[in-house]
Amino acid sequence: MTVPPASTGTPAPTGSPAATHHEVVVIGGGPAGLAGATALARARRSVLLVDAGAPRNAPAGGVHNYLGHEGTPPGQLLAIGRKEVTGYGGRIVEGTVTRLERLTGGAVEGTTTDGEAADAEPVGPRFRVGLGDGTTVTADRLLITTGLIDELPDVPGVAEGWGHDVLHCPYCHGWEVRDRAIGILSTGPMGVHQALMWRQWSEDVTLFVHTGPEPDEEEYEQLAARGVAVVDGRVTELRIERGRLRGVVLEDGHVIGREAVIVAPRFTARGGLLADLGITPVDQEVEGHVIGSHITADPTGATEVPGVWVAGNVGVLTEQVIGSAAAGMRAGSMINADLIKEETRRAVAARRRSARETAPVS
Ligand SMILES: Cc1cc2nc3c(=O)[nH]c(=O)nc-3n(C[C@H](O)[C@H](O)[C@H](O)COP(=O)(O)OP(=O)(O)OC[C@H]3O[C@@H](n4cnc5c(N)ncnc54)[C@H](O)[C@@H]3O)c2cc1C
Repeated sequence: MTVPPASTGTPAPTGSPAATHHEVVVIGGGPAGLAGATALARARRSVLLVDAGAPRNAPAGGVHNYLGHEGTPPGQLLAIGRKEVTGYGGRIVEGTVTRLERLTGGAVEGTTTDGEAADAEPVGPRFRVGLGDGTTVTADRLLITTGLIDELPDVPGVAEGWGHDVLHCPYCHGWEVRDRAIGILSTGPMGVHQALMWRQWSEDVTLFVHTGPEPDEEEYEQLAARGVAVVDGRVTELRIERGRLRGVVLEDGHVIGREAVIVAPRFTARGGLLADLGITPVDQEVEGHVIGSHITADPTGATEVPGVWVAGNVGVLTEQVIGSAAAGMRAGSMINADLIKEETRRAVAARRRSARETAPVS
């Protein structure tokens, strides 16, 4: 396990979990995990954040639509976040969580039938967390912020241009490619929607039908009315020269010059770990179309398993950086509230027990 890439002036994380038990272990150190860990550390909770160091927006030059940090390089924003977490006493280690286990000795929920708090006795932690290097730590609560995987269309050039000339999100990159020659690489039902959307940023938009459905009559009318060209036939590759996109190559060899290509990746939540706890990803839909799989939770991020929260893209596939950070903060504060409830319940039970033990026998 090694210390994460340094942020200047960061109060040094030790590079190891130090204590083996933490009130909360946060898994994933993107905007959601860092915001959650900051909220928890500021609430004076012992927090360990484990991060594998592969945030989703790493290929992008800057983070856009993040109030107060417009255009900041993704790595720089995360370095600021790490500094904030460690500045309040949270611990950060670089590593990959590979196993989660629910411990049977964990805290008991609820009260007994006679109204007495059931969990008066000190109880063990609820979860064991295993890292790839063999280290294990325990935790009372888990915050899972592992993000998602963008599954890109299997067309040569797409992966190479991803994040700079091959894009998906107009709020991340629309301004940067305004007025450029834009192509929409349709691979599913969102192609027409994307073409009409990106038309807001450029008058020069071409929809490549590729493997997507042929637009219907009404859609053709909409595309024509907005001046979007439609090209039938398969795309065989994106032509990239000296690191920049030059055009879209069709099956018949024609090359249509484009400066940016828009794709619709399938978004797959990095939620595999949660299977150990009995939580499995389900499909998420936008406008009636499945866009990928995610972990379901209530609006605070609480999953169906008590003690386990999610935040950011693992829970909501369409969440942006600012929304992921907000979700992480919200989940962190709800975890703190949940711990307070449990601590109060136990304190009341202990107080009643002590009163019973010291009461004079009549
Ligand atoms: C190319 C691109 C550009 C983008 N640009 C913008 C933009 O300009 N503005 C904007 O608002 N949004 C943008 N986004 C969206 C943005 O990336 C997400 O909203 C944001 O990253 C979600 O944050 P997160 O914390 O949920 O996940 P992530 O940022 O992906 O962080 C998840 C972290 O968890 C770690 N992890 C995963 N599994 C494990 C494990 N088992 N153990 C330990 N750690 C683990 C990962 O390594 C990663 O560091 C962009 C996305 C892409 C793909």
